Amino acid sequence: QFFDEYYSQGFDMISDKIWDVIVIGGGHAGCEAASAAARCGAETLMATHKLETIGEMSCNPAIGGLAKGQLVREVDALGGVMGQAIDAAGIQFRILNKSKGPAVRGPRAQADRKLYRRATSEILRGQTKLHIMALSVEGLAIDSSDRVTGIVVSGGEIISAKTVILTTGTFLRGIIHIGDKQIAAGRAGEDATYGLSATLERYGFALDRLKTGTPPRLDGRTIDWEGLVAQKGDNPPQPFSFITDKIQTAQIDCFITYTGTEGHNIIRKNIDRAPVFSGQIESRGPRYCPSIEDKVVRFAEKPRHQIFLEPEGLDDFTVYPNGISTSMPEDVQYMFLKTIPGLERVKMLRSGYAIEYDFVDPRQLKHTMETKKIGGLYLAGQINGTTGYEEAAAQGIIAGINASRSVQALEPFMLDRAQAYIGVMIDDLVTKGTNEPYRMFTSRAEYRLKLRADNADQRLSPFGEALNCLSRERIKRWHEKRDALIRARSLSKQLTATSSELTKQGFGVSNDGKRRTLEEILALPGIKISALYPLWPALSKLMPDVIEQLQIDAQYSHYLARQDADIEAYRRDEALEIPVDLDYAEVGSLSTEARQKLETAQPRTLGAAARISGVTPAAIIALLRHVKRRTFSGRA
Ligand code: FAD
Repeated sequence: QFFDEYYSQGFDMISDKIWDVIVIGGGHAGCEAASAAARCGAETLMATHKLETIGEMSCNPAIGGLAKGQLVREVDALGGVMGQAIDAAGIQFRILNKSKGPAVRGPRAQADRKLYRRATSEILRGQTKLHIMALSVEGLAIDSSDRVTGIVVSGGEIISAKTVILTTGTFLRGIIHIGDKQIAAGRAGEDATYGLSATLERYGFALDRLKTGTPPRLDGRTIDWEGLVAQKGDNPPQPFSFITDKIQTAQIDCFITYTGTEGHNIIRKNIDRAPVFSGQIESRGPRYCPSIEDKVVRFAEKPRHQIFLEPEGLDDFTVYPNGISTSMPEDVQYMFLKTIPGLERVKMLRSGYAIEYDFVDPRQLKHTMETKKIGGLYLAGQINGTTGYEEAAAQGIIAGINASRSVQALEPFMLDRAQAYIGVMIDDLVTKGTNEPYRMFTSRAEYRLKLRADNADQRLSPFGEALNCLSRERIKRWHEKRDALIRARSLSKQLTATSSELTKQGFGVSNDGKRRTLEEILALPGIKISALYPLWPALSKLMPDVIEQLQIDAQYSHYLARQDADIEAYRRDEALEIPVDLDYAEVGSLSTEARQKLETAQPRTLGAAARISGVTPAAIIALLRHVKRRTFSGRA
């Protein structure tokens, strides 16, 4: 019914007006971009190949994970779609690294694919100012001042727009590889896109090729589940979205099995038929997520590799074997699968494949995601060299907010490396570029103790509110939590207990007669706040996420304070002014490339210098030292 409603709007109605924002693509970047642009007040059109693939997960049916979970929470704190969609569709929720420090924990959820698509579509349908149409976009309309003016759809018609966001994922000149078979496609069963690559090239954009891969899909009815180790989710499951109270979807187990020597030998014997080794695929794939043939060759000493058998839905018998993505020929995939415990009589529903596609060098973008070459044209998602739904969503929301703000002549919105993982990723992409599919890791974030999944709302909801991209319900929830946190933090400084009171309650503190604040008590190792309820019954009334914050604040106060100081220094250095008469030849250890680029660009601040492509972090440190030395010697 949803789809019929949109089809019935008719092409004429869509093409008769000038849209504020047109988003091309209904993947993870496209959904966030379209929703954010509309939430921020822009009349927005989403033009995507098929309405039924909106929110499609091309590969793994899961959202989140280490660092990726942080991105989802950040998108959610800005009012995004992904957190709510996975809460409605998640069939197994786990906080990864739960036993480790809060900075490296990552929420992850297994999704029911169908429910995820449905939830995403429903959220978009409920969004005012957002219109969706199934269209195949072939090119962009660009005027003589190099500003985008609309999109060209198949058949040649133009739909006008003030800004356009391109989020075409793996579809640009996509080629699927299965053994020596090559199929032109954007992903399994869907056509590739050609016109858009040609348009981008015509306007001087540097494009390159990347590849990614996916495992075969299995028929769960032919798997021997007996004897496999079950992996259970968290109980109770913890939602992603700050506005979800409780997960309502039924929860399932995943199962673990392993590859073995027999399977590895089959791969080795047929390695010359693997497109990544035969020379058929030349582009780079994700290093941290290698195919099984890659693992067998690169880690030859390893006798086995773990596989997670992940059901793709509650009423779907398809199983996703996480860990064995492959582009080996179909017969080899079959032979290999049969060697795996539990899969001896497995039926393969679809073979694994690799896909090669065009991506745009992201150094051609500004931090707003707008391209430097074409005004009003924004790019987000896999098209910028990233991989992953979460990375795509995070870029989409920033592109959507900025496209919307630019048509309203409002200041652009950017996040820096100390504010969000989103800021880290975009800064990495636009300043350093990438020559392999870029994926978020906790190690990429310098200030990761501050950039946690649990405090994403505290970091970003104030921005969301100021940008007008949060619903009334979200703002209400955020204010409630913010006020509860303020009260609880003040309480943690006011409540005190003597050492004898604490000893009486069974706490192992030294009997030194000192009064300790609740904040100090919470910093004691292994303390459970519930153990303090007899002393202060009011504590049992605090919201669980507020309690979590109090404990993290107390236990990491020393490190958090140090990180605050680091962030302050980073901001100072970012804003450090470079003297206009600076002679770059005097700056020691600058490469010729960096010196020439700095001489040409003449950046005003160190932050601006760091954003010039080709100016490496080492060059920035050399420049920082030089400017500071000059300042101290009174020459600035
Ligand atoms: P997509 O989700 O690909 O969405 C693109 C959208 O654009 C689609 O809706 C499409 O219909 C639309 N579109 C394209 N061209 C046009 C056009 N001309 N006109 C109209 N609409 C158009 N990620 C991981 O994190 N790990 C993995 O292991 C992994 N493996 C993958 C394996 C495969 C085979 C594929 C295809 C992807 C894999 N991914 C993986 C990547 C993940 O799917 C993407 O990162 C994510 O979907 C990117 O989101 P996106 O919004 O940029 O693009």
